[in-house]
Amino acid sequence: MTTDLRLPTDRIVRPDKDRFLNEENPFEAMMSRFDRAAELLDLEPGLYKVLRHPEKQITVSVPVMMDNGEVEVFIGHRVLYNTSRGPAKGGIRFDLNVSLEEVKALAAWMTWKCAVVNLPFGGAKGGVVCDPLKMSAGELERLTRRYTAGIISTLGPDSDVPAPDVNTNERVMAWVMDTYSMHMRHTVTAVVTGKPIEMGGSLGRREATGRGCMIVTKEALKHLGMPIRGTTVAVQGFGNVGSVAAELLQREGCKITAISDRTGGYHNPNGIDIEAAIKHVRQVRSLEGFTGGDQITNDDLLTLDVDVLLPAALENVITSRNAGKVRAKIICEGANGPTTAGADSILEEKGIFVIPDILANAGGVTVSYFEWVQDRGGYFWTEATVNERLTDIMTRSFADVLQLAKQHKVNMRTAAYMVSISRVATVHRLRGIYA
Ligand code: GLU
Repeated sequence: MTTDLRLPTDRIVRPDKDRFLNEENPFEAMMSRFDRAAELLDLEPGLYKVLRHPEKQITVSVPVMMDNGEVEVFIGHRVLYNTSRGPAKGGIRFDLNVSLEEVKALAAWMTWKCAVVNLPFGGAKGGVVCDPLKMSAGELERLTRRYTAGIISTLGPDSDVPAPDVNTNERVMAWVMDTYSMHMRHTVTAVVTGKPIEMGGSLGRREATGRGCMIVTKEALKHLGMPIRGTTVAVQGFGNVGSVAAELLQREGCKITAISDRTGGYHNPNGIDIEAAIKHVRQVRSLEGFTGGDQITNDDLLTLDVDVLLPAALENVITSRNAGKVRAKIICEGANGPTTAGADSILEEKGIFVIPDILANAGGVTVSYFEWVQDRGGYFWTEATVNERLTDIMTRSFADVLQLAKQHKVNMRTAAYMVSISRVATVHRLRGIYA
């Protein structure tokens, strides 16, 4: 990186390390990692300030006619964190825990995630505060369409491209695409990714996040000189990410000794039959009643004696309170933000190799990028091509981060932030500040 491109600066950023850190606040969690990487990169203060602030935050009220004939008003957010490298990219979640603070953090994470795997995208996230499990299909459709209409000014293949996230799926993406297209008066497939295959979705997109986790876990095992065959794995969360990662790792020869979902966990030291668990979930819609292992809690699962721990559910599950008890050698963060900043140093002291979320779960957005490219080109790839290109990007990104980690003697999370922040910062320097 050439210094003459740097923005004018008279001092180097020295983040306030004593700043109050609320461990459970996702934006603070993101920022404390950002600060550390920014310091190591000697990021100039002007850019530091720019990258600490989201570009745009939208909050909308979403009135929905419920099935009982009454109108309910939901709150929705969409945050575009940074679009210097390309259109904003990131999912939409429907959850009771959604808040502007959380969406802001997740949008920032998307910015770093897209940059770490070098996609030509910025980062965004959206969310609606609701309990989708208590809503009918009709209510969810009306909610999705009205929320889409509320944020339509940011949406577009060149400006902001949503995708599925917690509690949203291809069905929801189809409604987003249709609503946008009706407003534009023509069909725009590339406005959203994670769509059904029949309407411009990509082969391999549904499995992509779990597949990416499998790929980087294999790379980590290789790096640590551990064999894949017989490696024991505990997977928290059995949705789109956890179940696919478990299935693919099992196919590679790993032994999945524990799985869980919101109803609880199941432990079997001889290995759980993942295909049977997936079949069970297909029938019952959760792991409840699964007989392939002894019942444990979600907290117990995190501290099992396994080689690999794969948290693929929600944020803040590995904290300063339980990090000391984690026995895995590798943590592959399938979820966004499963580890708090407070837990980072404890895991590092214990010598646990953490594949950070922005790298570990980047497979999903990588195939989203492939979907967007295919939609724009109107020419679709085979599943083999998608998987091959995904493997390529994930292994190359893992190597980029590992190389920087070794060079600066930092952990993989700090190195991943350094790779992303320097890529975003370089583009800002080249573009300059528009006045
Ligand atoms: N919601 C996913 C994530 O957090 C996918 C985002 C996307 O494909 O745009 O990475």
